[in-house]
Amino acid sequence: MDNLLITGGTLWKGEGFASGEALFIAGGVIAASGPEEAVRRSAPSSCRLLKLSGESVLPGITDGHIHLAAWAKQRTLLDLSAAASLAEALAMVSAEADRLPSERWVRGWGYNDTRWPEGRSITRQDLDGLGIPNPVLLQRICTHINIADSKALALSGLESGDGILEERDAIPALEAMERNVFSRREVKKALKEALFELASRGVTCAHPCGADDYGMEEDLSIYSELKGENALPLRIFTYHDRQAHPPLPSGFGDGWVNYQGLKIYLDGSLGGRTAALSAPYADDKSEEGRLNWTDGKVLRLLREARERGVQTMLHAIGDRALDQALRCVGQVYEELGRPSLPDRINHVMVARPDQRRRLAELGVYCDIQPAFVPSDMNMAENRLGEDRLPWAYSWKSLLDEGLVMAASSDAPVESVNPQESIAHLMERSGPQGVFRPEERLSLEEAMPLFTSNPWKMIGRESFSGRLESGCAADVVVLDRDISPGDAQAVREARPKLVFAGGVLTAGELDGRAGMGA
Ligand SMILES: [Zn+2]
Repeated sequence: MDNLLITGGTLWKGEGFASGEALFIAGGVIAASGPEEAVRRSAPSSCRLLKLSGESVLPGITDGHIHLAAWAKQRTLLDLSAAASLAEALAMVSAEADRLPSERWVRGWGYNDTRWPEGRSITRQDLDGLGIPNPVLLQRICTHINIADSKALALSGLESGDGILEERDAIPALEAMERNVFSRREVKKALKEALFELASRGVTCAHPCGADDYGMEEDLSIYSELKGENALPLRIFTYHDRQAHPPLPSGFGDGWVNYQGLKIYLDGSLGGRTAALSAPYADDKSEEGRLNWTDGKVLRLLREARERGVQTMLHAIGDRALDQALRCVGQVYEELGRPSLPDRINHVMVARPDQRRRLAELGVYCDIQPAFVPSDMNMAENRLGEDRLPWAYSWKSLLDEGLVMAASSDAPVESVNPQESIAHLMERSGPQGVFRPEERLSLEEAMPLFTSNPWKMIGRESFSGRLESGCAADVVVLDRDISPGDAQAVREARPKLVFAGGVLTAGELDGRAGMGA
């Protein structure tokens, strides 16, 4: 699209919504933004006009932490999360096998046997009993347990009486399944579909996180190919859990496909009791979780990243992992000064008040996942106990410390829906009621976490994330006005038009469909 004048909308202006303003998009950027009369004067009279009646116009949304390739692949596999019984799960596996060539593995995910009336897990014997020709490998909802049938075990060179493979024991089977199911062509196809799904939700930028150690690589060459085929609807800035070879600096790329940094996993998860806590788990006094690395190793990684001009993102869920992050990052800042791109601390799920202050002192950035609150509230209370609950998911307290924060989905762990995520920040409500309501954010507080802050966090504050003249034309037009700040209205809002770099990536304008159609 050459140019477009948008009038009549309710525009997000960084700190609040404004009406009576207009946007003029030309050459892929926002050429003018401000009071309608002034913007009209700067647009040519031949300009295409989009006249809205109050619908909200937002900067494009960024998903600041997503395992994009892993999510894209998972979307193509058998979703067992709805199976209400063991029998139903087995029937779903059987039906999937009918649909697939016999040599193709059946890969299912998301089953939850704690909800099943049979009161037990699936076993190798159950799967063998189906009499299907396909190898089968199923993953439990927690992702820490896989079940293989006899064919899958044999093809992976594994032996197991009941076929239940815990944690890293499953790696040979996972690798064999990956080789069978996901050729590069399959991954590219899955990624393309996933990217357009994100675009349809108003996402114009993502910070995918590759976790090679967990079998979740992010392949920049595929994004680059899609860009060349005019099929990349969002901007990509990747993080990886290994240093790039050859070394690349943060921001290496063309503004569409970019290398951004190093991901360091300091601990595990609260659900799996592998998050490192400073005192034992309330529901298992023998367990405090564990740190993946010594301080020496973390310091070495941080110093090496600094030498290469690479930003780091540190995964820290428990407060002991956060202590390690603060200690090591603090020491490196002491030695080498604060970097131009401060470190990002991801999850910050359990943060004591002294830690929240220290985060702000260091001026590091925080990445949070709003959907964890409704999903985890019950589990978190069990794991942490009453005394430590005030440290959990304290988004408002972090914000009040003056920290720069971005919100993200962590898909496939949670859904990618950003409208839902904004509503979660505003409500913090789940099946067990509202979790620590004092930590709710207003819509005005939540918006920057999805728009301007992620751009600030990768050092491109003036590039995108704002409806300001000179910024990239990454713009979302919603189907309604969300400015009154009602969480339910935000949740129900759907993007009507989505532009990335001025190109329509989702929706339909003047009878012409966007890039993905
Ligand atoms: Zn993650």
